[in-house]
Amino acid sequence: MNALPPSSGCASDLAVKKRPSNQTPILRERGQREVFCGLTGIIWLHRKMQDAFFLVVGSRTCAHLLQSAAGVMIFAEPRFATAIMEERDLAGMVDAQDELDRVVGRLLERRPDISTLFLVGSCPSEVIKLDLAKAAERLGAKHAGGVRILNYSGSGIETTFTQGEDACLASLVPEMPAGDPNGEQELLIVGSLPDIVEDQFLRLFEQLGINHVGALPARKSGDLPSVGPNTRYLLAQPFLAETAMALEGRGAQRLDALFPFGAEGTANWLRAAADAFGIDEMHFNNVIAGPRERAKRAIEHSAKQLGGKRISFLPDSQLEVPLARFLNQELGMEPVEVGTPYLHRKHLAQELELLPESVRLSEGQHVDKQLDRVREDKPDLTVCGLGLANPLEAEGFTTKWAIELVFSPIHGFEQAGDLAELFARPLRRRDVLKV
Ligand code: SF4
Repeated sequence: MNALPPSSGCASDLAVKKRPSNQTPILRERGQREVFCGLTGIIWLHRKMQDAFFLVVGSRTCAHLLQSAAGVMIFAEPRFATAIMEERDLAGMVDAQDELDRVVGRLLERRPDISTLFLVGSCPSEVIKLDLAKAAERLGAKHAGGVRILNYSGSGIETTFTQGEDACLASLVPEMPAGDPNGEQELLIVGSLPDIVEDQFLRLFEQLGINHVGALPARKSGDLPSVGPNTRYLLAQPFLAETAMALEGRGAQRLDALFPFGAEGTANWLRAAADAFGIDEMHFNNVIAGPRERAKRAIEHSAKQLGGKRISFLPDSQLEVPLARFLNQELGMEPVEVGTPYLHRKHLAQELELLPESVRLSEGQHVDKQLDRVREDKPDLTVCGLGLANPLEAEGFTTKWAIELVFSPIHGFEQAGDLAELFARPLRRRDVLKV
């Protein structure tokens, strides 16, 4: 098992074995991909942003994807929809901008509760070069006062599904109010977390004595946090490169840390904030000791199942590197191949240092070659997209759906046991079926 780097302080009891991230060899692949598109992010973003509405400008395929992924909302007013582009739109026989104005006008008339309207681009809208930025600007001016209208792309052209959240959050950054340059240092948690997890983190920061803490995205559009040179931000998700760049463009500084998965990842993430805000070492240790111990105990049960097992990740959610680190460091699993659609070396630097030297890292996707390597490696568990899971299971491989990790609460101390269990369950099921 690996351990935290010396700077983390939380791992002084563990042996340190560094893997210099800038020397890590990476297999770069480009070929056929098997991933969901960025529209998928709407499923969790619409639950998080309670007064936002997502209007996808797309085709019937886009509408089907959203409906089947989200289920039909029978009892609530829906907070996403698809403005379906018909053949005459695609053929340029009508002015799609006029059509969009009509759809948005009707929607806002019927739904005055909408505070933020996202116009979400798709493959069809991008193929016909429908300028949604222009549309958002025009419609924003027309409906000024009651609603903020923004746009981002959720298309499947050159994206993987978590990029939808990145694009959405990046579109919110210019809307964030400017922080007081002479005010106190503020902490910003960046990345959509289930409310219950966000509340746990907010409580921990409060106990630590860090009082000015905002979250992006905010639950209500009126609570959009401020940003400026006094902002220090912690990424809660490893797939927010564009958002991070936009925040830095507004003067915010990223706190370098592991991602908050498992006992050690969470401790390291909190410590980065504690160090930046000058929190006393002893106080920090006192605050996190209880929940950290609980997290360690919660994962013990799964460690028996997972210890020594070999795992491969096919590129899908962009969570692959921090999850591989967690499984190796805290559960003793052996990552064989860790494939990820995009590898942000800077944001993942500490994570990469902790991966064992034997791991094969790959970036991008060439599904046939990757499947061949899985067949050769014969891992005990393969984490992959939905479309690849069934064929692999049919060949006798045990799989875990990558998308489940995005939909489940997995961050923080209190969720560490559940996160470990998500990986242990398929192996347990396999063992039961074998008997
Ligand atoms: S955005 Fe593209 S990939 Fe996604 S559902 Fe629509 S057509 Fe399919």
